[in-house]
Amino acid sequence: MLADIPLAGRVKKINPSPTLAITAKAKKMKSLGLDVIGLAAGEPDFDTPDFIKKAAIDAIEKGFTKYTPTTGTADLKKLICEKFKKDNSLDYASDQIAVSCGAKHSIFNTLMALVGNGDEVLIPLPYWVSYPEMVRISDAKPVFIKTGAANNFKFTSQDLKNSITPKSKVLILNSPSNPTGCVYTQEELAEIAKICVNNNIFVISDEIYEKIIFGRSKHISIASLNSDIYSRTITVNGMSKSYSMTGWRIGYLGGPKEIVNSISKLQDHSTSNPASISQKAAEAALAHGEEFIDFMRGEFEKRRDYACERLEKIKNITYTKPEGAFYIFCDISRTRMDASTFAGRLLEEALIAIIPGEGFGSPNHIRISFAASIEHLKKSFDRIEGWMNKL
Ligand code: PMP
Repeated sequence: MLADIPLAGRVKKINPSPTLAITAKAKKMKSLGLDVIGLAAGEPDFDTPDFIKKAAIDAIEKGFTKYTPTTGTADLKKLICEKFKKDNSLDYASDQIAVSCGAKHSIFNTLMALVGNGDEVLIPLPYWVSYPEMVRISDAKPVFIKTGAANNFKFTSQDLKNSITPKSKVLILNSPSNPTGCVYTQEELAEIAKICVNNNIFVISDEIYEKIIFGRSKHISIASLNSDIYSRTITVNGMSKSYSMTGWRIGYLGGPKEIVNSISKLQDHSTSNPASISQKAAEAALAHGEEFIDFMRGEFEKRRDYACERLEKIKNITYTKPEGAFYIFCDISRTRMDASTFAGRLLEEALIAIIPGEGFGSPNHIRISFAASIEHLKKSFDRIEGWMNKL
């Protein structure tokens, strides 16, 4: 007889990843020999640069394959402090840094350190799929701040004020944003900072797409605006998107020492250090990665422009031009299909995989990733256009 497995309440309240169903189906269709094109990817399609791989190979050959300090080596932390100073005008000392197994891990640990039962965490909607689930795991309650295309999917200071209650403890900010590509300006961030300071709300600033930013948009770290918001912000970043290192699992955060100490204890008793070899690779990336970033950013901008040009001509889809990251968030409500139906049919009938918006809290939208070559994009938009014309 099969055992009745008494799962903990904690896992019962988490929803499975909504992106999984469509990507699993796309994979299966591909394995059957169908020419499916994926515009669903959440990672750059470029290879990790050779000089970064070489640093990892050197680390293995030199035997740098043992435990390191839980929150990262002194050398890597030094480079992260220099990066924060140079790119973000942020002064963090080494003991204010924790390196972890990806930015996702950094955000998870921060939530575990800061919130629990009875606390509310403010999350702009549409959101990155993992934020609400991580908040639920930490026993706190996600409270969504609805945004729309009219304001480029950015919340206003009034939207923020309307969402605050005495239980609000943390705001998760993600600029440039996944899935919308919106970027908050310095003025907007200053307003948000003021409201957070006045209400003693802590900010988790997820800056993972910092380097993928277009046109005249500029990335500003909210913590750099003044000392009041600095002391209430945890700035999260990582190697995944900037250096095309998603599989290496290195993320990091900077923040108040007390919070970093608590995160360090959590890591001590859960994951310990992120892989020693990946840490060496991250050092090389931070020290010598500028040229690669410039190249990749330029390529993404060309692709964004191409994708928007094509979308302009497709009827019944409207889109908001992204200022950063590598996604376009498209409104498909004029098709009268919900996003899951739209995505399912697009996959079956035109062999294009995209992500339906339900998982981002937006059933009227789809997310198209332009982490694909221009050649792939051309073929994809030809198909999407042909399919939409026949609807
Ligand atoms: N934040 C956002 C907004 C993301 O899109 C992602 C990756 N999809 C992450 C964090 C996690 O990045 P990492 O690979 O460093 O865990």
